Amino acid sequence: MTNPPRSTLRKRLARADPSLTLPASVAVAEMPPGVRVAHVYPGSMAERAGFRPGDKLLLINGEPVRDTVDFFFHGADEELEIELESEAGEHRVVFLRKEVPEDHLGVEVEQFTTQHCGCNCVFCFVHQLPDHMRKSLYVKDEDYRLSFMQGSYITGTNLKDSDLERIARQRLTPLYLSAHAIDEDVRKYLLGIKKARPFLDLLRFFRRHRLQMHTQIVLTPDVNDGKELERTLETLVSFHPTVQSIAIVPVGMTKWREGLPELRAVDRAYARKFLREIKPRLREIEAQFGEPLALLADEWFLIAGQRPPSYSRYPDLPQLENGVGMVYHFYKDFAEARKLMPEKLPRPWRVAALTSTLSPPVLKKVVDLCHRCEGLTVDVIPVTNTLFGESIHVTGLLCGSDLGKAVRHNPSYDQYLLPGNCLRRYDERFLDDLTLDDLRGQTGKLITPVLGGSLDFVETVLEHAAGLEHRPPEEHPFLRPHWANT
Ligand code: SF4
Repeated sequence: MTNPPRSTLRKRLARADPSLTLPASVAVAEMPPGVRVAHVYPGSMAERAGFRPGDKLLLINGEPVRDTVDFFFHGADEELEIELESEAGEHRVVFLRKEVPEDHLGVEVEQFTTQHCGCNCVFCFVHQLPDHMRKSLYVKDEDYRLSFMQGSYITGTNLKDSDLERIARQRLTPLYLSAHAIDEDVRKYLLGIKKARPFLDLLRFFRRHRLQMHTQIVLTPDVNDGKELERTLETLVSFHPTVQSIAIVPVGMTKWREGLPELRAVDRAYARKFLREIKPRLREIEAQFGEPLALLADEWFLIAGQRPPSYSRYPDLPQLENGVGMVYHFYKDFAEARKLMPEKLPRPWRVAALTSTLSPPVLKKVVDLCHRCEGLTVDVIPVTNTLFGESIHVTGLLCGSDLGKAVRHNPSYDQYLLPGNCLRRYDERFLDDLTLDDLRGQTGKLITPVLGGSLDFVETVLEHAAGLEHRPPEEHPFLRPHWANT
């Protein structure tokens, strides 16, 4: 097991703008206090107390305010003594007493700069990106505050003792931690680093402080599978309830791996063998704990050509963003979709559902439902990912250029659906920087993203085919792309 040459990594890492992150060596918990007020709500307690945008919050009740987490943590007290610094550098102290504990101060504070990741994982997606993509895509961040707030995965390798103390004191739990392998040599190889706090130490620290973590194992054939996986699972399971869940996801590899370590890809034969061998162990774990503590990403089943499991007995699946139970979740609102489907359309309507190469079987049930409606035709069109390579077959990594090609090669449809998770939500931009509007302009076609599950799929079609009123979901697990194997 050898790590990639330094020159390759240097070249790849140079594509990121270092000013976008804090160095991995920084102890976040020891950063100087000072969080800027971005907005003061009119009529709020803060406005009445004279807070202004640009003011810096330094201390709340004597505790340093280093970031949003501190602001919410200390700002939750009923009586607040806040030390501020104005833009002109004047210091003042404000005393506030909330009428009810749930009252908000009425300010928004600036988001903190995230910390840079200190690893060079052999499967890091950022290293496997082509050149000339958006600068922000090359940023490798790893920040326990984001793990707590948004559920993003961290390795824990840049956590200093002071950060761990803070996590325990502020109860920043659960966190999402990449375990990968319990053998430290295997783990360090996968993380591409020479020194790291042993994962066992993190597990023990979390258990001692009654903190919880969700974990993931990025399974890399011939590296952390087989006996190594058995050992890793055994250890993680023995730390339940500290370890709340374990997701096993297949390693993802793009075609841009020149100079990076050679890894074996997960193909259909491997996925089938892996599923055959792992399922009995997972059933044992489920029987032991009364819940499926260790879970497989749906991708395993799709690669193997099998149906992903239904999780109907477990309504609160914890690792949806990691692709566990996505297919089950897509059909959670299917009964409502069925009720909505009319017997007949006022006019014939032909729809092309563009999706990744693995996903046609996933859409079969909803497409069959559509075909019960007279006049409605839905064809599923798998789109090959030429930007990242054919082995990338998840919807979240489909790019505008490949989708555009698919539309032009299949010009005879009234409407084109595409998976909403391949678009950045706030500006409807694909990973290759094309926007949804660019695509519509280039093709002159009606192209609509599906932002939720099967109900949203049906509503998106009927909105245009039959004038149904449709409000796309604001928030949905499918809309949180999880494309870096952190
Ligand atoms: S996969 Fe995540 S943890 Fe590993 S190097 Fe990339 S950003 Fe860092």
